[in-house]
Amino acid sequence: MLIDGKLVRREKLLELKQKIAELQSLPCLCVVQVGEDEASKVYVKQKAKLCQELGYRFIHKTLPADVDEELLVQQIDLLNLNEDVDGIIVQMPLPAHINATRVLNAIEPSKDVDGLTFANSGRLLQGADGFVPCTPKGIIDLLNYYNISIEGKTCLVIGRSVLVGKPMAHLLLDHNGTVIVAHSKTPNLKELSLQADILVSCVGKKWLVTEDMVKDGTIVIDVGINREDGKLYGDVDFEAVSQKASHITPVPGGVGQMTVYELCENTYKAYVKRKKL
Ligand code: NAP
Repeated sequence: MLIDGKLVRREKLLELKQKIAELQSLPCLCVVQVGEDEASKVYVKQKAKLCQELGYRFIHKTLPADVDEELLVQQIDLLNLNEDVDGIIVQMPLPAHINATRVLNAIEPSKDVDGLTFANSGRLLQGADGFVPCTPKGIIDLLNYYNISIEGKTCLVIGRSVLVGKPMAHLLLDHNGTVIVAHSKTPNLKELSLQADILVSCVGKKWLVTEDMVKDGTIVIDVGINREDGKLYGDVDFEAVSQKASHITPVPGGVGQMTVYELCENTYKAYVKRKKL
């Protein structure tokens, strides 16, 4: 069965719009973008578009690629202090001369709607309420929508980034999955993937996951976005693997649909918390 990200997003958006309709004012998201990365421009546009659809205020702060790290941190401090701003995200990747960890942690945790500060990562680790990174959060929403229980299942997460892989593994663990995390130094990926009831690939390598690596009935979640000759591909060889998977996300039209939605949901949550509603 196809896990239809567009459908789930549409339904979740209806629920969010109903909640927003009850607010006195509207949430405000600020995206800080450094440099001219082409993919980042596309992602910022997607965020702006959904914010517009929801009526959110959207601030797009751009800084040149050679911006001084100190200046960037100062800009974030100003946004932290700005009462009109509910959520702040720094668009990744940042230029190599900038310490991304320092910059991300300059964001006030109550406005960290991407959930990447030490404070929010710690909350996730300890099962406390905080902001959960958008892509893994969206994957949990997809699984919930299709009534896929994680409890007791063997879950393989391929990739261990702070953005996707690690928070994904924690969320699956919190939902009582038995979690295996693979990465570039994992020698026996196929052996592990053949054990997986739920397989989440977040690597960024076209067709890393092939049909011979999954058992019948596996739930396959493809996070990868790989551009080739103007086309998008996931990490999973979709055509072949979908013959075996019980559920599978397409690329595009799967996980990516949820990521921007979750950012807007987190921004709503930040607004409500800050206004103490
Ligand atoms: P990342 O920071 O580059 O992390 C990639 C991970 O994959 C690393 O942990 C790396 O291992 C691991 N890896 C690399 N080669 C591998 C291999 N041959 N076998 C097993 N693991 C391997 O990337 P990311 O930010 O997590 O993003 C991953 C992919 O998801 C990208 O394609 C990105 O565009 C996409 N993405 C999609 C969305 C969405 O909304 N759909 C959102 C975010 C990201 P090491 O740690 O050992 O280096």
